[in-house]
Amino acid sequence: MTLPYRTLQPWLLERFGRPVHRVALDAGSTCPNRDGTKGYGGCTYCDVEGSGTGAFKTGAELSVQLADGLARVARRGGDLPPGGPGVGAIAYFQSYSNTYVAIARLREVLAVLDPVLDRRPGAVVAVAIATRPDTLSEEALDVLAELARRVEVWVELGLETADDEVQRSIRRFHTLADFEDAVRRVHARGLLCVGHAILGLPGDGREGARRTAEALARTGVAGVKVHHLMVLRRTQMEKAWREGRIATLAVDEYVDWLGDFVERLGPEQVLHRITGDAAPADLLAPIWDVEKNVVREKLAAELDRRGTRQGARALPRGS
Ligand code: SF4
Repeated sequence: MTLPYRTLQPWLLERFGRPVHRVALDAGSTCPNRDGTKGYGGCTYCDVEGSGTGAFKTGAELSVQLADGLARVARRGGDLPPGGPGVGAIAYFQSYSNTYVAIARLREVLAVLDPVLDRRPGAVVAVAIATRPDTLSEEALDVLAELARRVEVWVELGLETADDEVQRSIRRFHTLADFEDAVRRVHARGLLCVGHAILGLPGDGREGARRTAEALARTGVAGVKVHHLMVLRRTQMEKAWREGRIATLAVDEYVDWLGDFVERLGPEQVLHRITGDAAPADLLAPIWDVEKNVVREKLAAELDRRGTRQGARALPRGS
């Protein structure tokens, strides 16, 4: 069945000629919203693990995280025909702001990949680095561009919302202009860029979701990750939610907003994700009684009902 939006797995298969899965890595970084440079306590929705696995704090060496992750990926390729390229992995530096470190530390972190990048045929087909638009120095981009001579590099940048006022209220402390500038600089190095968005942030609303999609389309990021606002334990938002000051979206409401969002992306942009993931023990709201694939099906049905598809309401490039 052809979906009315562009999903990740077919794109990966086309690009790398094999199924590809992520290996999430936690390099133990931090971010300027936690260490006091811009704020303390993090963005209001972010948990103490910096939106990542928390593996580093448990003492899991990066090389061990990588080896374990690659072993898991290899097992997922067990059914593939022998003699083929096998299964591929994306080494995904997920937690915190991974370029918010000294350049020597960034080099040290990326060096953990050396043995696997030198292996032929290689299992790691891409390296994805999650960071903030305002913590991406030219020196860090030099290092990433150097790495890109050996393996494909994706830079994942959090935008979350295109509204600077909402950015301030969620204590992200960067602007849409910062994001646009960072995307330009990533593209200038020939690296692939993925933008993040959250729908349903307090004060953002359905219009905000539309404007965020338009901003992501304008920047021409190759990939987009979007999810609904989730209230997690051990976040600043937890208190506001407990006091009844934060509302979250019901699944059908989210699908409506997501339909608007996807219609406004460029038709070529690849949706890396359209729902959030949180450990059940950490998730306070919303509690949806549906699996992820139900959201995918609902989005397809909603776009079919509207008679539209991804990009149907995209603004012309340059507008
Ligand atoms: S979401 Fe990112 S920038 Fe915000 S506190 Fe968490 S790790 Fe820091």
